[in-house]
Amino acid sequence: MIRFENVSKEYPDGTLAVKTVDFQIQEGEFFVLIGPSGSGKTTTLKMINRLIPLTGGTIKIQNKKISEYNIHELRWNIGYVLQDISLFPHMTIEENIAIVPEMKKWESGKISQRIDELLDMVGLDPSTYRKRKPNELSGGQQQRIGVARALAANPPIILMDEPFSALDPISREKLQDDLVELQKQIKKTIVFVTHDMNEALKLGERICVMKDGEVVQIGSPEALLHSP
Ligand code: ADP
Ligand code: ADP
Repeated sequence: MIRFENVSKEYPDGTLAVKTVDFQIQEGEFFVLIGPSGSGKTTTLKMINRLIPLTGGTIKIQNKKISEYNIHELRWNIGYVLQDISLFPHMTIEENIAIVPEMKKWESGKISQRIDELLDMVGLDPSTYRKRKPNELSGGQQQRIGVARALAANPPIILMDEPFSALDPISREKLQDDLVELQKQIKKTIVFVTHDMNEALKLGERICVMKDGEVVQIGSPEALLHSP
């Protein structure tokens, strides 16, 4: 589904953030990128939807180079959930979720139905939350909306950059559990960045360990736990 071939990234200031990374992510796989701060996880993630241009190598999605996709086509087919609260504060929950479906010119009845469906999927009652503004929700609820928004137009790929790390431990655990359950239903290709090994082991089907811009290990949670 997603293939990195000798991918590297040097920032204009000369920082070599990613050095020759090679891996493949299977369709429907929950793939976790883990490593200490500065190891190149976010850079790796953001190259997938071309938020950051690569400086070497190739990334392919379904055997097509990302550079060959129309940028809108690429972004609309890749949901993105950020660490920080990224909802638009002046817009209601339903307006936030509707952004991509509206850009794709879905008709309003279909969008409305989809919003109800998405709120149910992330465990928030539609009639209570649709008309609220983001600041009327807890941090955990806002991140649930972030997940709903990323899923809105049913993209096959979801990128998540430390989506739960700003939450209190109890909310974080609940969202992790719920994401595991949700993934069983939706079976998306998920690329999830974290620096928390417990989170990686709990969520990941495969875990890719990065250090200083390189992949140092890649494998199942079991394989990682039993490696020296
Ligand atoms: P991580 O997500 O693992 O914390 P990042 O991908 O954010 O790592 O960063 C990898 C390296 O690239 C770090 O040394 C970071 O300081 C550097 N870096 C990130 N963004 C930029 C940028 N825009 N310009 C220069 N260096 C950057
Ligand atoms: P993250 O928490 O995802 O690792 P950071 O806090 O490292 O992100 O970076 C936040 C922003 O600053 C990003 O857009 C990143 O590209 C940029 N950035 C990070 N490190 C540097 C750097 N050394 N020089 C310039 N920009 C940087």
